[in-house]
Amino acid sequence: MEFGWTSDQEALRGKLQAFLDASLPADWETIASLSPGSQAVTDFSREFCPQLAEAGMLCSHWPEEHGGSDASAWDHFIIGELLWGAGEPRGPQYYNVNWIGPTILAYGTEEQKAQHLARMREGNVVWCQGFSEPSGGSDLAAIRTRAVRQPGGDGRYLVNGQKIWTSYARLAEFCFLVVKTGDARRDVSVFLLPMDRPGITVRPIDSVVGDGDLHEVFFDDVEVFEAERLGPEGKGWEVIRYSLDFERVGIPRYALALRTLHRAVAELQREGSFIAEAEQDAALALARCEAARMLVYETVDKRMRERPDTGSASMARYAVVCAERQVADFVLDWTPHLFTSDDAPMVATHHKRAIAAGLAAGAAEIQLNLVARDVLGLGV
Ligand SMILES: Cc1cc2nc3c(=O)[nH]c(=O)nc-3n(C[C@H](O)[C@H](O)[C@H](O)COP(=O)(O)OP(=O)(O)OC[C@H]3O[C@@H](n4cnc5c(N)ncnc54)[C@H](O)[C@@H]3O)c2cc1C
Repeated sequence: MEFGWTSDQEALRGKLQAFLDASLPADWETIASLSPGSQAVTDFSREFCPQLAEAGMLCSHWPEEHGGSDASAWDHFIIGELLWGAGEPRGPQYYNVNWIGPTILAYGTEEQKAQHLARMREGNVVWCQGFSEPSGGSDLAAIRTRAVRQPGGDGRYLVNGQKIWTSYARLAEFCFLVVKTGDARRDVSVFLLPMDRPGITVRPIDSVVGDGDLHEVFFDDVEVFEAERLGPEGKGWEVIRYSLDFERVGIPRYALALRTLHRAVAELQREGSFIAEAEQDAALALARCEAARMLVYETVDKRMRERPDTGSASMARYAVVCAERQVADFVLDWTPHLFTSDDAPMVATHHKRAIAAGLAAGAAEIQLNLVARDVLGLGV
């Protein structure tokens, strides 16, 4: 079976590739290897995203009334696939375009849409996402950070607690923040919090994923207001689920895995050492990447047809993690020297991202639990 692109989709791919060829600098791969949360990539994204917006390819899938062009989920996905394969020059701003913006579109008040969507579609604002805590990662309902409504009827809350593993927090202007607002397990609310509010402390965490990517964020009597709450108080679980369904297939990670695999195979061919055993391993890695691609496409297709997801996002996510790991293993086994080669900076980048992939946006094992429950009906 072959899933080809239509001529319009081929034209979009050609347009974006030409745009990338013209706008990415010669040393782009070296910059990209620093991680999306680094100062260098974030700075680059602030130049790149406005140009991409100008060319109509940053938020084209958003509704026309909010500055998009009502492009299909497929067109948006084609753009994301090429950009991720190229090292994600949108930097941390891919968050905005892929799921924070769409979640504000779905749940935001008119004032919130007016305040936030314009800057996102212009491509010059960085957000972070405050979900995980030391007490709550996979079990998000176990978070302890709390927003307590203050007396006086002025819609003011005070937030106290701590987030952890927060990508991009050091450079972010806003946080998509999940907090407890009541005592029931899922009594949580989402706030769109400016990161310059007094009482917020950000501390970087050194990690393999790269400079500037992970942080602890502390909240000490931080004021936040009703007008900054996204959706009704205590109903944040629905907002989070909406956002996470986008996030799980939001990054076409197999695109960089495929590129890395091709790079490693080219190296083996150049050296004359692409022996039968390596060919078999390469074929297995390729099959995993293609399986991931097809499962992700199935999820995009379901969205296009507004059909229920029923676990396909989790299945696709798990397949993507497997594909990344298979490619990382292939490179480790057959071309380990590429990890330190100046000619192939994205190979090491892929490896670092593959290590983290099974955790970020929901651990791989949790995706399997969801598949067992939603696809196999095992009642986990
Ligand atoms: C690169 C990176 C970027 C991240 N960025 C952000 C961010 O911007 N914002 C944010 O909020 N968070 C972020 N995270 C955190 C991420 O969402 C969490 O790491 C993830 O949800 C897992 O939570 P945890 O780390 O607390 O691990 P735990 O939940 O403690 O899990 C530890 C291990 O136990 C397994 N496990 C746990 N529960 C079960 C179960 N019920 N069944 C089977 N296995 C289970 C998990 O699969 C995992 O292998 C990021 C993480 C990474 C690696």
